[in-house]
Amino acid sequence: MTKSTKVHVAAALVFGAATIIAGMTTSVQAAGEVNLYSARQPFLMDPLLEAFTAKTGIKVNMAYLKKGMLERLKSEGMNSPADLILTSDIGNLQNHVDAGLLQETSSSVLSKNIPTQYRDGKGRWYGLTTRARVIYVHKDRVKENEVMSYEDLAKPHMKGRICIRSGKHVYNVSLLAGVVAAKGISGAEEWAKGVKSNLARKPKGNDRAQVKGVYEGECDVAIGNTYYMGKMATNEKSPEQKEWAKSVRIVFPNQADRGTHVNISGAGVTKSAKNKDNAIKLIEFLSSNAAQKIYAEDNFEYPINGGAKVHPLVASWGTFKADTVRLDQIGTHRREASKIMDRVNFNN
Ligand code: FE
Repeated sequence: MTKSTKVHVAAALVFGAATIIAGMTTSVQAAGEVNLYSARQPFLMDPLLEAFTAKTGIKVNMAYLKKGMLERLKSEGMNSPADLILTSDIGNLQNHVDAGLLQETSSSVLSKNIPTQYRDGKGRWYGLTTRARVIYVHKDRVKENEVMSYEDLAKPHMKGRICIRSGKHVYNVSLLAGVVAAKGISGAEEWAKGVKSNLARKPKGNDRAQVKGVYEGECDVAIGNTYYMGKMATNEKSPEQKEWAKSVRIVFPNQADRGTHVNISGAGVTKSAKNKDNAIKLIEFLSSNAAQKIYAEDNFEYPINGGAKVHPLVASWGTFKADTVRLDQIGTHRREASKIMDRVNFNN
């Protein structure tokens, strides 16, 4: 990754020099490339980017940044080579907006392909896939109808039965921000306190580790994103994860009222973009049916675009009603949610 970034930076410098020598006022780069910082993994992005290049002729230089994208963009400022970013969770997208790193854009294709709930009103970020944050329950130890809502997780009958990752992780801060949107700050704080008092252990590990906790009998329910069920159930490299997946079923919470919390992975064009048009073309492509099919098949996520189908395994979990709250609302409630996690001392 570091290596490819170096190659990229060198290429940009050469292009810059060529422009000056030729005395051109327009950027040579603009003709045929786009530079991407991606927190989404190469296994997922490579087939998508290859399909984009095959269709448009535009070359994509991708730097995979598992961690540290925000810090890197902040330090690079307007000298950043990145034209666009791809990352998961409204929390991460919103952090880039708050740092002033993403620019306002508009595109009739994106307005058509992406529901308003899942894109920024000013075009600074666009959702490209959705995922639900659901409750994984043990197939035998949890009775039908025992856990139907997020609220049930805070009730006395769940004492000592819940596994969840850190309350400060973006996934859980966004989930709690959704509760703030639904119930206000004091309602959300009450809920977080209740869930905390029902935990089987201190928060630790990632989403899959919580399902493992259910499999091993440490807890009866776990909170996790939907695509991890697909990743565990089909994991040839770590076949023990198939057993974890087999021990649980997915409950989509709050079907009787506001619906299940849904989050996104998404993209935004940087303020430093030198290939803005190509960056928008790439986001448009990623929202198209052809690309949505690849996302759904390779990562068990839900298409953002109603025209594409879900993976059969994802379909087997059933359909569900999603919370209709706009994700930019979730974004604005995140700071309050994070403070609540501190106040209730969620991780300790
Ligand atoms: Fe994840």
